[in-house]
Amino acid sequence: MRIGILGAGQLGRMLALAGYPLGHTFSFFDVSEGTPCRDLGSLTIGRFEDEGTLKKFAAQCDVITYEFENVPCSAAHQLAEIVPVYPPPRALEVSQDRLTEKEFLQGLDIGTPRFRPANSEQELRDACSLLGLPCMVKTRRFGYDGKGQRMIEELDSVATTWRDLGGAPLIVEGFVPFSRELSVVAVRSKDGEVLTYPLAQNDHRNGILHRSEMPAPELTPELRRSAQAIATKVLVALDYVGVVALELFHVRGELLANEIAPRVHNSGHSTIDGVITSQFENHIRAITGMPLGSVEPHARAVMFNLIGAIPPLDALSTIPNAKLHLYGKSPRPGRKLGHITLLNPSAQDEARIERTIESGSMS
Ligand code: AMP
Repeated sequence: MRIGILGAGQLGRMLALAGYPLGHTFSFFDVSEGTPCRDLGSLTIGRFEDEGTLKKFAAQCDVITYEFENVPCSAAHQLAEIVPVYPPPRALEVSQDRLTEKEFLQGLDIGTPRFRPANSEQELRDACSLLGLPCMVKTRRFGYDGKGQRMIEELDSVATTWRDLGGAPLIVEGFVPFSRELSVVAVRSKDGEVLTYPLAQNDHRNGILHRSEMPAPELTPELRRSAQAIATKVLVALDYVGVVALELFHVRGELLANEIAPRVHNSGHSTIDGVITSQFENHIRAITGMPLGSVEPHARAVMFNLIGAIPPLDALSTIPNAKLHLYGKSPRPGRKLGHITLLNPSAQDEARIERTIESGSMS
């Protein structure tokens, strides 16, 4: 099939790399030239508001998907009138606004951090008083990797926080004293089959994912079941087709849902090397109507993001079970340039990779 991808970043790249062996071809739509997908198909550069360009793009595709959640809903709806768009545009509507997202989760009886909306400095103050300090304050829209987000520890900082976040509509959340951050990646096929990857455990640095381990250590059958139930509820409620990721807090033995990503996810990159069918392949299978592939892990996979700089690659040769994935992007501080997945690593392997990455980011 001719698959169109909205967005031409590394997720689009890995989707195409998984889809070519299945016999598909790819074209990409983005607002500016993205290098990760340069050699993987035709690239249309345009605005999501430009109906003519969208129409021309749709004419080249049998099915369209997206690799980032800030695709304007109007564009997704317009394309969906011409060609199937998966996941359904409704998934974008729900996940683009953190308040709508939390209300949607609550409506499905899925546990979330306690939350309140705030549209003025006074409402922010009231929400903080009601929820108790500390609070996490987030802009409802366009936040990612910890951006558009502040912690309030004392009411004195309400005014500066309101100003810092630009007077934008906010969601205020009670601070969750989680023991760890987990995520669940799941996939739903066109005929409603749902498969759930093993939970991943995620560590962030400066708000960006640094390390992700799948399967997460110390998983109990209850945790697995609970993650499966959460993912299934979300997928079914949205009549979803494709891969979804849910970011979860593990707190006092329970899972609370923090965020829905209606796309393949960074914490699922380890599925390329550690699971029989990667999240990318299963997303392509789902949106093209193929049966889903097994999500059984065949190794304990630990993924490290390469952020800002690519470390000296010769160091990798000392770790035979390290798999390197580069995205073809030029280095810039804070930019995700690639990742390394270690299969069944020892503590020494991990320490060596951490040192290698550290040396790269200082170069
Ligand atoms: P988010 O942009 O919502 O994914 O948040 C980025 C990071 O901030 C998360 O990965 C958590 O480490 C932290 N965080 C977000 N919300 C909360 C919360 N309600 N309580 C505690 N930590 C949070």
